[in-house]
Amino acid sequence: MTSLRILIVEDNDDHAALLTDELDIVLPEARVARETSMIAAERRLETERVDLVFLDLGLPESQGIETLDRFLRGRGRPPVIVVTSAGQDDVGLEALKLGAMDFLDKQNIGGGMILRTALFAIERNRVQQELSRKQRMLETVVAAAGHDLKTPLANIEGIMAILTEEVGDRLDDHQRELLDATLSGARDLRSLVDDLLSLARVAATERSLQRTSLSNILARVTAVLPAADRGRVHLLDDAVLRCDPGQLHFVLQNLVVNGLKYWRERPSVVRLSGENTPGAARVTVTDDGIGIPPDLLQEVFLPGVRAVNGSDFSGTGFGLAICREVVEGHGGTIWVKSEPGNGSSFSFTLPA
Ligand code: ADP
Repeated sequence: MTSLRILIVEDNDDHAALLTDELDIVLPEARVARETSMIAAERRLETERVDLVFLDLGLPESQGIETLDRFLRGRGRPPVIVVTSAGQDDVGLEALKLGAMDFLDKQNIGGGMILRTALFAIERNRVQQELSRKQRMLETVVAAAGHDLKTPLANIEGIMAILTEEVGDRLDDHQRELLDATLSGARDLRSLVDDLLSLARVAATERSLQRTSLSNILARVTAVLPAADRGRVHLLDDAVLRCDPGQLHFVLQNLVVNGLKYWRERPSVVRLSGENTPGAARVTVTDDGIGIPPDLLQEVFLPGVRAVNGSDFSGTGFGLAICREVVEGHGGTIWVKSEPGNGSSFSFTLPA
């Protein structure tokens, strides 16, 4: 590797000397430059390659965490280690959340500490860049696949519908069955593509957390249900959830629609209850439908796994996998208790 280029952004001469001297000892090959203001540092970054920046948070133009915020807003920034004073761990942690690779207490840079921090920051930055690159690639593939798969499927559905209308009454039973099977196959495939895209989107999008009530989200779910189905859904206890409302809407919709769908002798009833405990919120969605065989209680959360015959109940087997992705992405857990013939009870928790 070519020699490491390090930039120290620090207006205090003594503090800068402390860092430079220590870097000279532990990284003698590195080329260390120093700037005393943000403007000068930014100008240097425009023309020079810099592999690592040590940033002091008290500069002439800005003070505190705002300094880092301003610095990171620039394009193509190298990894940054924030230099803090003794006892400023809270500032350091805030800096990490904002995007700094690490923080270093300037009273505590000896004994190899600075070397460890520098190498760790460079490696962490490399891994992050690699992950972002993979994520961007995945998003591109998902967007392209979504479009290129859905358009021809919609065309097939349209053509089949026209054919059924125009020549349907001239076909014999067998021919009509073939036509119907093709049409429903295309519809199933489109649901599958939709579910796969939802799964990829949930995994890729950032959550925006808000406090909202279980009843609020449920109201959006039931609003689009046929009236008869709406009458089979009951909320027993409300709770406050800290969540991304769009993602939680998806979870509740899946659990409620499943509860309404999986019954045989008589239409099932779905009951929801929420509960707030000091550390978490818990939601349970219970139905009195067909239940799930014990050996499949874990498996139903895996993508594409179904516990029923596809010709008895429509579905793709991806809904619960997406629910798990959402709940675990929020830092919660999801599980099911069920007995065949005696209904199912899905529960999930979300951190408060
Ligand atoms: P889908 O409903 O599209 O098949 P899901 O991922 O939502 O996909 O569910 C996976 C499987 O779990 C279903 O195919 C079904 O066998 C089972 N399942 C889910 N919810 C219930 C329920 N409320 N009652 C009985 N079985 C259920």
